[in-house]
Amino acid sequence: MSRTVYVNGEYLPEEDAKISIFDRGFLMADAVYEVTSVLDGKLIDFEGHAVRLKRSLDELEMAEPCSKDELLAIHRKLVEDNGIVEGLVYLQVSRGSDGDRDFVFPSEDTPPSIVLFTQNKPGLADSPAAKKGAKIISIEDIRWGRRDIKTVQLLYPSMGKMMAKKAGADDAWLVEDGYVTEGTSNNAYFVKDGVIVTRPLSNDILHGITRKAVLRMAAEAQLKIEERLFTVEEAQCADEAFTTSASAFVMPVVEIDGVALGDGTPGPIATRLREIYLDESKKAAI
Ligand code: PMP
Repeated sequence: MSRTVYVNGEYLPEEDAKISIFDRGFLMADAVYEVTSVLDGKLIDFEGHAVRLKRSLDELEMAEPCSKDELLAIHRKLVEDNGIVEGLVYLQVSRGSDGDRDFVFPSEDTPPSIVLFTQNKPGLADSPAAKKGAKIISIEDIRWGRRDIKTVQLLYPSMGKMMAKKAGADDAWLVEDGYVTEGTSNNAYFVKDGVIVTRPLSNDILHGITRKAVLRMAAEAQLKIEERLFTVEEAQCADEAFTTSASAFVMPVVEIDGVALGDGTPGPIATRLREIYLDESKKAAI
């Protein structure tokens, strides 16, 4: 069934939605994005995603396509019109197009392009993948140095997912200078002797909206947290591990580079954090 999508001020059937071939998102990956999950027909942590979008735009000196209230209204209309009960809303903003190709940014009066579309994902919260846990491989992190900006440069993360698939795994963790940065599309954690370990925020990783919420909830549940660098070897010796993202919430990790963690099933802390996160987020959804 055709979705209703949003393109530069218009709600259209997906097959009628068009963007210029000169759009800088297409030509230069000069674009940023956000993904907000929908549970019970409501948006999870919309505020967090709106704030990060603004930060990504500011860091790249890109104009805001519309106000936060307008963005919220567009999200809600697409959720409603597409009958999304569980799913995702993708929001893409590019520097637009002045009708030609040039490395130099177009003049400041060139409007950004804005596109939103939904994905219907029944069973997103009650996911069989989360009950099984993910198998991870580690690969070198060769991405650019501003991973804190949520750009659409997703080729290497895509290749990482393909490398994992070819190796019979579910996802990859990226390693730079001997330390895990993050997953291809999530933040990475392990748990040892009751302490949750994850890399501190910097330009090296995306400042996950789910990361922030889960760390807050973990602290409220009296769990110990250490934000520090860690290696794959350390994570392999952990009691359990997990990842966080807006699209998969808290995902237990059961294997890293062929080494099973604990008894090879989702660990109790990851399982509990997933429950707490889903519970609290649904309560706060708008
Ligand atoms: N790191 C990377 C590289 C990601 O792509 C994502 C998901 N967009 C995350 C972390 C998790 O961020 P969030 O919790 O905001 O989805």
